[in-house]
Amino acid sequence: MKVTTRRSFFQYMAILGLATFSTTPLYAKGTKVKYLYQDTPKDGKQCSDCMHFIPETNECRMVEGSISPDGWCAAFYKLPEKK
Ligand code: SF4
Repeated sequence: MKVTTRRSFFQYMAILGLATFSTTPLYAKGTKVKYLYQDTPKDGKQCSDCMHFIPETNECRMVEGSISPDGWCAAFYKLPEKK
């Protein structure tokens, strides 16, 4: 696409933004090292109480690979209390 006018520039940028947005995942997993993952709880916090934990597969939405329900990492976010 040749950009020759202001209008074509904005059309080009809109198409480029749409293509980028539609092909980029909303989040990407990081390594265990990046998130300071450990296989043991920390200060009473552990993966089984975290909103990112997937109990069916022992996986995490943030950290790559298999994790322990008793583990912990820096991305811990406590599940909201059930009423
Ligand atoms: S974000 Fe961290 S604490 Fe939470 S489930 Fe994943 S590895 Fe465990």
